Amino acid sequence: LTTVENKFEGIWRLFKLGVPVEKDPGKDFHGLSDALMQEIAKVLEFPVASLLPREAFSVIRKSFDARKMLKEPKFVYTVDMDVHRLLILEPRARDFISDLEPKVGLMEHFAKEKVSNDVINIVHDLKSNQEMVGANGLNGHSGPYLRLSNGKPKIAVVGSGPAGLFASLVLAEFGADVTLIERGQPVEQRGRDIGALVARRILELDSNFCFGEGGAGTWSDGKLVTRIGRNSGSVQAVMKSLVYFGAPKNILLNGKPHLGTDRLIPLLRNIRQHLEMLGVNIKFGTRVDDLIEESGHVVGVKVSDSRDKSKLSNQKLEFDATVLAVGHSARDVYQMLMSHNIPVVPKEFAVGLRIEHPQELINSIQYSGLANEVEKGRGKVPVADYKVAKYVNDMKNPSSNSLAASHSCYSFCMCPGGQVVLTSTNPGELCINGMSFSRRSSKWANAALVVTVSTKDFSDLGFHGPLAGVEFQRELEQRAGVMGGGNFVLPVQTATDFMDRRLRATPVPPSSYRLGVKASNLHELFPGHITEALQQSILAFDKELPGFLSSDALLHGVETRTSSPVQILRNPETYESTCLRGLYPVGEGAGYAGGIVSAAVDGMYAGFAVAKSFNLYHGDL
Ligand code: FAD
Repeated sequence: LTTVENKFEGIWRLFKLGVPVEKDPGKDFHGLSDALMQEIAKVLEFPVASLLPREAFSVIRKSFDARKMLKEPKFVYTVDMDVHRLLILEPRARDFISDLEPKVGLMEHFAKEKVSNDVINIVHDLKSNQEMVGANGLNGHSGPYLRLSNGKPKIAVVGSGPAGLFASLVLAEFGADVTLIERGQPVEQRGRDIGALVARRILELDSNFCFGEGGAGTWSDGKLVTRIGRNSGSVQAVMKSLVYFGAPKNILLNGKPHLGTDRLIPLLRNIRQHLEMLGVNIKFGTRVDDLIEESGHVVGVKVSDSRDKSKLSNQKLEFDATVLAVGHSARDVYQMLMSHNIPVVPKEFAVGLRIEHPQELINSIQYSGLANEVEKGRGKVPVADYKVAKYVNDMKNPSSNSLAASHSCYSFCMCPGGQVVLTSTNPGELCINGMSFSRRSSKWANAALVVTVSTKDFSDLGFHGPLAGVEFQRELEQRAGVMGGGNFVLPVQTATDFMDRRLRATPVPPSSYRLGVKASNLHELFPGHITEALQQSILAFDKELPGFLSSDALLHGVETRTSSPVQILRNPETYESTCLRGLYPVGEGAGYAGGIVSAAVDGMYAGFAVAKSFNLYHGDL
């Protein structure tokens, strides 16, 4: 049902305008097609010919909806209509509105005269949501953010993932003297290191799928969906920044935007160039090993060369403040923080397996007759994805309401047309994730199937204390390594065998994972209740997506690093550590974000908070 909202003065937002697939130009077109204009005309009850000029309309979002309950799959649009512009060229409409305007507001007019009340959805004025960064955007001539600084505080930003990059961007734009310290390598060398891992099984400890320029999300699917509210000014600011640095504009319009590794790499190079242009000193291959603390203040960091220890070890660098954006795989950093008595508290996260299906199977489950429109990412409709979730009660205690006895099971980080990749940062520990290229054209579809775990689960395995969750992850990763037999070979099991708790003699189906797989008893990898929760949820997901549970579906072990296992406590207003002045824990590793966009947003706000504490910025956060 189409809804209309008075966005702000003169701009009307039309939601849920559906255009059937056969009438739409396809997933790569984000303009105003004739079919869309017809849909708009139908809703407004004006003939298409009177809706002039077309520039009065702009597409705000486009998604694909192929849910089974629909009579036919369709593209669904959100469109803004500039009423004033429209009126200039449309005399009948002008008369129509001006006749009524003095008596009732535009909104009421639409409600009474054109669209019935039940399709009017009035929400708050989005103007108030246009935060300072969103409003300035990155496309202005004067650079991304307002520059107000006179002084030059020396700020270290540790980690060049989305959080560290956005913190650096903001701080550099405010005129701080920023040093960005990254244990991994720039994307060019990092690409070679990842190549060596995939081709020759050489794992560089500080340059891999988790560590290096761009952080964990560089060799990823580059999904830009976020649960923190897509329309908020801060998310829009991040998205506009990505466009400014080279992402295609359609990420601003697409309902499920994604970039893919091939687009992320040049984009990161552009960010690097921009930071250097702003005077940021970027130190790749430099690992922060310790904080230098004086009277409750962090006054610098100790670093070493992450490749060649003889070159630079224990070097001291002085800073006025340190932004810690190290991601959730920097377990050595958590340990180091504990040695400074910095409050680190365990938090819930999720563990499980990565399931991989032939992409064709997912296309046919999701699209039925439309599946042949996918054409390896070149077709009219997007490569099919899915998102499933189930709340599971403990089988042994089904009536229990206790949180500890129940788990959420859900699919996570689904990569259509992607591949399974190794995200270990230590050769003795095996963990995985998924990535894809922009076209999503591989023949596989993978997604994590994970179950939430908390301190109760950690203590069941004998792990206690602030880093119990980290130990729990490590234990599962080591078990997976042993099951795979070494050399980064992954333990795998078909979904049907996992359900039956057995291993058939037949060979397992092929996998996209490049370093080899070994048929294994994955049902023995986890504590029993986690296996049971996964089994229950797979059954439920198969009801939702018939064919999901199949002998062609291959489960890969193990998915452990879904989000941070800890939170590093900080002041919610200043972003500063509750324990040490001058330390700003941010991003996913600190427990304040999950995913590329939310990490970038957290880094951006942290940048503003640090700038504020040095009087470089005087506005609100
Ligand atoms: P990170 O990106 O982890 O960055 C931390 C950086 O700090 C790293 O570069 C690391 O090398 C550096 N660092 C760590 N310790 C030190 C130290 N001691 N000294 C110096 N530097 C240090 N999210 C999505 O939203 N969409 C996706 O499609 C997606 N796909 C993913 C695919 C893969 C393979 C992986 C691994 C993750 C994926 N994610 C995805 C998750 C996403 O990458 C993270 O949520 C996000 O990168 C977190 O950002 P961050 O800046 O907080 O930390």
